Amino acid sequence: MTRKMRAAVIAGPGRLEIDEVAVAAPGRGQVLVRVEYCGVCGTDLHNTLDGWGVIGAIGGHEWSGRIAATGEEVTGLAEGELVVGGPPWCGVCEWCRIGRSSLCVADPIRTGTPGHSAIPNQGAFAEYLLARADTVHQVPEGLDARTAALSEPLAVALHGLTAAALPDPLAATRILVSGAGPLGLLVIAALAQRGAESVVVAEPTPPRRATALRAGAATALTPSELPDVPALPTQTSPDGFDVVFETSGAAVAISTGLGLLRPTGRLVLLGTGAMSVRLDAIRILLNELVVTGAYCYDDTGIDDALTLLASGRLPIEDLLTPDAVGLDGLLDAMNRLKIGEIPRKVLVRP
Ligand SMILES: [Zn+2]
Ligand SMILES: [Zn+2]
Repeated sequence: MTRKMRAAVIAGPGRLEIDEVAVAAPGRGQVLVRVEYCGVCGTDLHNTLDGWGVIGAIGGHEWSGRIAATGEEVTGLAEGELVVGGPPWCGVCEWCRIGRSSLCVADPIRTGTPGHSAIPNQGAFAEYLLARADTVHQVPEGLDARTAALSEPLAVALHGLTAAALPDPLAATRILVSGAGPLGLLVIAALAQRGAESVVVAEPTPPRRATALRAGAATALTPSELPDVPALPTQTSPDGFDVVFETSGAAVAISTGLGLLRPTGRLVLLGTGAMSVRLDAIRILLNELVVTGAYCYDDTGIDDALTLLASGRLPIEDLLTPDAVGLDGLLDAMNRLKIGEIPRKVLVRP
């Protein structure tokens, strides 16, 4: 008889069904992982609430879990060992070969099969997950499963810092973080531990502004309290920024971020959402601005994130909600995350 597990299955825009689905047996080079925690990402909100996801798919890619079974030819991973997921990059395409694996042609989002697992469209909002053994990362001694579940989104934040080409030291750099959702908070916390002292955050909801200050921002403003974008592209704001991390994905936030850059400033796009935005090309040209995306992680991103989490230098309780939700509570949590009612990362405990 096939073993069954509970999973949150996308049933249509805004609809999740908790179904019983078959637990797959690990094949050659694969491991079966019993999911401990899985974070809810902005991508999961789009996939579930906005109808971006395939019907029948199981979301969730920010997972930690324990090895439940190993397939043939798996070495170095023992049953019960705590691991986190990494992306199934190919390692051989032109981008992987030059150390830019976030552009891998086999990346799950690019191929339309998200989930960081060995089965397309089957993520970790389920009791078990099948993963390629060479894509999982062992969690360092002393790091718990709950904190380890932050490694994937933290790796995204760290990649954003890489894309920003930040100077060292960082204390005098003028930085704006646009949006203080879970990703914005991780960017703020990572910047703070790198020595950024005057990070400004722009965020509409009061609880998220308060959390951003605790996570390391020096100033928390509503978007309307930001300096005005100068009307002419020849002018830059005297209160402008060297780097803007845009984590909200809102079109207006993206164009405001660009408009508030100082000459040579850099806009790093981390938030998904806006399908198309009008950017002031003359402003970019005259002020030699750089606009860059930051997608996924550095090649060493997941391990860098695990090391930083294990160092104990991040304010974990400001980044995570105190209690995880079960699969039954996932849809409600997604709806509350979308309107900014929950100021931290939500973890699911399937
Ligand atoms: Zn994510
Ligand atoms: Zn590749």
